[in-house]
Amino acid sequence: SDLIIDAKDLVKHYPIRGGVLRGIKGWVKALDGVSFNLYKGETLGIVGESGCGKSTLGRMLMRLEEPTSGSLLFDGVDMYAQSNSGMRHMRRDIQMVFQDPYTSLNPRKTVGDIVAEPFEIHPDAVPKGTNIRTRVKELMELVGLSPDMTNRYPHQFSGGQRQRIGIARGIALNPKVLVCDEPVSALDVSVQAQVVNLMEKLQDELGLAYVFIAHDLSVVRHISDRVGVMYLGKMVELGDEEQIYERPTHPYTQALLSAVPVPDPTKRFEREQIVLTGDVPSPANPPSGCRFHTRCWRAQERCETEEPLLIEHADGAGEHPSACHFAEPKTDVV
Ligand code: SF4
Ligand code: MG
Repeated sequence: SDLIIDAKDLVKHYPIRGGVLRGIKGWVKALDGVSFNLYKGETLGIVGESGCGKSTLGRMLMRLEEPTSGSLLFDGVDMYAQSNSGMRHMRRDIQMVFQDPYTSLNPRKTVGDIVAEPFEIHPDAVPKGTNIRTRVKELMELVGLSPDMTNRYPHQFSGGQRQRIGIARGIALNPKVLVCDEPVSALDVSVQAQVVNLMEKLQDELGLAYVFIAHDLSVVRHISDRVGVMYLGKMVELGDEEQIYERPTHPYTQALLSAVPVPDPTKRFEREQIVLTGDVPSPANPPSGCRFHTRCWRAQERCETEEPLLIEHADGAGEHPSACHFAEPKTDVV
C-alpha cells in the first residue's frame, strides 16, 4: 500500500517537577491524542502556534521522544516496540531536518564530514560501487551546492546554503520520510522560496514523503498535499490543500488564514479579519471541553464541557475532518 506512517492517538505528557523533593506537580500535555496517516511521496504540512505540540510530534515521529501512549506503524512496523538495534535500522528510512541551520551543524566539522555523518552509523548505506567521498559530492550537487566546497566550514556559508547542507545530510541515507521542523523559519523570505523549491525538486526525484512543520499556513501552502492544523496538543482540522485554504471549517484555521497577508491589495477589504484575543493557554492546564473555547468567537455553552472530536463535516464541496461542534465553511477569510 501507499501508506507509510499510520500514527494513532499519540500522547506525550511531560512531568512538571518542583518542591524540595522534586515530586511531580503536574503534567504538560504537549501532545494529547493525535492520529494521522502519511502516504508515500506526499507532503503533510503541520501548522500551529508555538506550544501546540508540533515539534514534539516531529520528534516522536523519529522516536527522539518516547510516547506516553499511542502507536506508530512505519511501513507496517510498530516503531515504539523496536529495540535499539531495530530502531537504528528504521532510522535509515526516516530522517530529520532541523529548524535552525546555524545551530544544527557542528561548527568544527567540514561540511563534507557533516553530510557524511549518517554513514558513521549506517556504513552499509553507501551505494555499491562508490565511496563516502564520492557520495557526499553527489549529495552536495543534488542540493545545489558545489561539490568542491566539502572542505569548508559551516560559517563560510549563508543561512540558505547551510539549510541545503542540513537537507543533504537528511537525504544521505535515501530515507522514505523526511521530517522537517520549521526548515525555513530562520531564513529570509526570499531564501525560503528557494529552499522550498529545492525540497519539491528532491521530492520528485527521490520519491520522498515530507512532514513539513511550520507556524505559518502560508509557508506550507505550495508544498503541502495535505495540511493538519494543531492547537494545544490536538489536531483540530485536517484536509487537502484546497479544503484547508479555500473551505476551512474550524474557527481556529479560519483565524490563522485571515491573518495571512493578501498579496492582492484590492482583495484586502473583501476579506474578514478575525482577531484572536487572549494568549494560548498553558498546555499544563488546557481549557475544558474544546481547548479553543477561551479564544473562539463562535463558542457556545456546549463548547466549555464537551470535547469536539476530529470528525468529518460538510465543507461546501464535500467533507473533511474538523474538531468543532459547529464546523462550517467560511470563505470570506481566504
Ligand atoms: Fe469554537 Fe466551540 Fe467549535 Fe471549539 S467547538 S472551535 S469553541 S465553536
Ligand atoms: Mg508535493
